[in-house]
Amino acid sequence: MQASKTSYDVVIVGGAVVGSATAYFLATNPDFTGSVLVIEKDWTYQRSATALSSSSIRHQFSNAINVKVSQFGTEFIRNFRKNVEVDDDTPEIGFHENGYLFLAGDVRGANVLRRNHETQVSCGADVSLLDPEGLGRRFQWLNVEGLTLGSTGESGEGWFDSVGLLQGFRKKARTLGADYIEDEVVAVNREGDRIVSVTTKSGQTIACGTLVNTSGTNGKQVARMAGLDIPVEPRRRSLFVVDCRTPLEGKVGLTIDPSGVFFRPEGKFYLMGTYPKHDPEVDPSDFSVMHDEFEDEIWPTIAERVPAFEAIKVVNSWAGHYDYCTLDHNVILGPHTDVKNFLFANGFSGHGLQQSPAMGRGLSELIAYGGFRTLDLSPFGYERVVANQPFLEDAVI
Ligand SMILES: Cc1cc2nc3c(=O)[nH]c(=O)nc-3n(C[C@H](O)[C@H](O)[C@H](O)COP(=O)(O)OP(=O)(O)OC[C@H]3O[C@@H](n4cnc5c(N)ncnc54)[C@H](O)[C@@H]3O)c2cc1C
Repeated sequence: MQASKTSYDVVIVGGAVVGSATAYFLATNPDFTGSVLVIEKDWTYQRSATALSSSSIRHQFSNAINVKVSQFGTEFIRNFRKNVEVDDDTPEIGFHENGYLFLAGDVRGANVLRRNHETQVSCGADVSLLDPEGLGRRFQWLNVEGLTLGSTGESGEGWFDSVGLLQGFRKKARTLGADYIEDEVVAVNREGDRIVSVTTKSGQTIACGTLVNTSGTNGKQVARMAGLDIPVEPRRRSLFVVDCRTPLEGKVGLTIDPSGVFFRPEGKFYLMGTYPKHDPEVDPSDFSVMHDEFEDEIWPTIAERVPAFEAIKVVNSWAGHYDYCTLDHNVILGPHTDVKNFLFANGFSGHGLQQSPAMGRGLSELIAYGGFRTLDLSPFGYERVVANQPFLEDAVI
């Protein structure tokens, strides 16, 4: 597909949720009048992390900035229709505000929840700590044996339609003038400390003022096209949808067992997964589901934690990839320190969907104003990679 011009102020590589959020915030910013091209290699998005994710948002992070980033995400999602409205056909996003429930199984785990709770509350998050007795009263489907503490989100957390969010950003950005083409960036052309253009698989060379790398798990390859490096690699995550003979009664949030096994309702079913014990870098084209993980880890653990899950049947499963930042489980956001017109948004490590509104807005501010105007996202910058100084996020699911 041909781009309508040979030169753009901003070229965005990867048009899933983060690329489209960036295009959206540029297109809706009255102070930015430049041209924007989004190059996306697959308009079905079937292998994007966006489409394969658990589609959830939480305020329960260990790092205060991540709490604030997700608080903006919630605000955006709650006002989704108004934010992305174009015509009567605005997609629905179906926000289920059921909260997360983090569980601790020893003193150390309880201390982590308490410490994170302080951070979250200092940011205004609506979260509560519950002792085992309180957990048992509130969540009657839960076996509290062996638990020391729980932390639950009272509002602002839940799940929604990830592709709806992506399509909302994309449609509004296109309506306001951003160009989208279906093509693959195969070369990033650099002259000294500037990116001058990209070349696509179909043979187009398109000049750019700024290049934005929102290519997800392919981010490292796109950086390498310019001779640059980022500590981001694809890590596989399998998700399983199960039918439960006796559905759980009362409020059920996204529940994380101390082992890392988690589940949440998915319509009349339940979606389940785990943080794999063995978690190597994988081939980016390997989307095979790790069925052993369900049999060996997820089911035995979850059937003990939630007795009703003894009688479950897998009705669907898929695998996707985290763009995993090996330095500190946080995104690398903003310009490369040497090549300043090359902006990254890579390494979300499993929380990029909920971060897309704040990160897209942040990138648009960097482009329009040369600095952040709302949330200061500079701790996520490439500088920490150069200095080898992690900006750690502990609460990774
Ligand atoms: C199983 C799973 C569960 C998750 N659960 C959650 C969750 O509950 N909450 C949450 O916040 N996050 C979650 N995440 C993480 C979240 O999905 C990602 O962080 C987020 O979707 C990243 O969006 P993105 O736009 O950066 O990347 P992607 O969605 O991966 O999109 C990258 C796009 O770039 C395109 N592309 C790549 N290379 C090129 C190229 N050379 N030229 C053109 N186009 C290119 C791809 O086709 C793709 O569409 C989960 C991820 C997985 C895999």
